[in-house]
Amino acid sequence: MKIYVDDCAVNKRVEKGIKQAVRFFAQNERLPLITVVVVTVADYRKHKETKGAFGFTSQLGKKGLYLVTISRKVANGLAKGHRVSWVTIFHEMQHVKQFQKGELYYAGKKSDTFWKGVNIEHVSYRNNPSEIEAEKVGQEYADDFMAVYYDPQLTKLRK
Ligand SMILES: [Zn+2]
Repeated sequence: MKIYVDDCAVNKRVEKGIKQAVRFFAQNERLPLITVVVVTVADYRKHKETKGAFGFTSQLGKKGLYLVTISRKVANGLAKGHRVSWVTIFHEMQHVKQFQKGELYYAGKKSDTFWKGVNIEHVSYRNNPSEIEAEKVGQEYADDFMAVYYDPQLTKLRK
């Protein structure tokens, strides 16, 4: 699989961390090798609901190509080992998987979102089954990933 990170927006350390996380997820979930994930960073400071910590995933025209956008706040938190930032990365990767499996898709225009054949356009975020699943998976992966890469005790043992 291919992973591109917008390196204008993040430093080398964060870029490496994002690639590590995306690969960690993709290999474990056996996403097809043709999968291409592009990660970019955007300013969403005005996004009130999440206080600027925000991620968004879309499927680009061709199957297998996905754009994951994370907010600047999430990107900054990755370097600091903030759990919520890593949850966001894995939450978005679960959306990639949902698109890949055809469970989540847009019908025609982007405003028509379907989940397992049902139009969920007017379902609130909290009740949206694709979001509930993505959040659950995001939390689990963040804990596992951080236990391996960010556990201070583990780092101590390795020295
Ligand atoms: Zn989501």
